[in-house]
Amino acid sequence: MTGTASVDHTSVAASAPAEAIHIENLHKTFGQLHVLKGVSLSARDGEVVAIIGGSGSGKSTLLRCINCLENPTSGTIRVNGEEIRLKPDGEGGLMPADRRQIERIRSRLGMVFQSFNLWSHRTLIENVIEVPVHVLGVPRAEAVATAERLLERVGLAEKRDVYPAFLSGGQQQRAAIARALAIQPRVMLFDEPTSALDPELVGEVLKVIGDLATEGRTMVLVTHEMKFAREVASHVVYLWNGLVEEEGPPEQIFGAPRSERLQQFLRTVS
Ligand code: ADP
Ligand code: MG
Repeated sequence: MTGTASVDHTSVAASAPAEAIHIENLHKTFGQLHVLKGVSLSARDGEVVAIIGGSGSGKSTLLRCINCLENPTSGTIRVNGEEIRLKPDGEGGLMPADRRQIERIRSRLGMVFQSFNLWSHRTLIENVIEVPVHVLGVPRAEAVATAERLLERVGLAEKRDVYPAFLSGGQQQRAAIARALAIQPRVMLFDEPTSALDPELVGEVLKVIGDLATEGRTMVLVTHEMKFAREVASHVVYLWNGLVEEEGPPEQIFGAPRSERLQQFLRTVS
């Protein structure tokens, strides 16, 4: 399931890129609500996995489990080959067995949410260097140099000393992407990064994400932008009611969907 159709996967299997994310039989319940019902999914290095599906199908919960923002009810998650170790939480669920492991795993994941979540009382450059300097112990001068380069990449070099409130939603989201990149993550996780934006600002954010995809960055991207998913994804997963209803290359999912439910979903979003 790595990208280009021209690759013969049978002959390259031995040298296939490593798995950055691997999820097996993931379940998540909130009280009586069974949200994820046995989801399996993987993303190899360089892959862009797009997750699509209706509201409430469990997309955000799935991403939040990868980033340890939610604890699964059962199932396994490996990030970078390392399985997240869980233990019973005493209430029938699971919780992290090792806080330090959670920190290590989070340091490999760059997360970008629907709402930009920048620190409002810090300038852009301060937002971008915060975690590298205060959590990862990167020397300040080095973090600033990296942050300036990243702000430049997302087109915000001249806004480095501006506070988020003075920026458009599109600029804030581009800054949030720069901030997520600043930890040099193995994988970028995006949860509907453009859905809170005014329509005229969506394009500039998709451009930044598209450039990252072109560079070969590994990503798991929840999106309702079907045209974009078709362009950038190497693999598309359609989630329905907490289960993978259909998955495959974008040509299949968008061009020749097999599942009735997916066909119906695509009619409602296009
Ligand atoms: P999606 O991102 O696909 O719209 P979510 O993963 O956000 O779906 O939510 C899936 C279901 O889980 C929804 O019914 C939602 O209300 C429920 N849910 C999500 N988070 C919680 C929570 N912390 N507590 C209770 N229910 C939740
Ligand atoms: Mg969501």
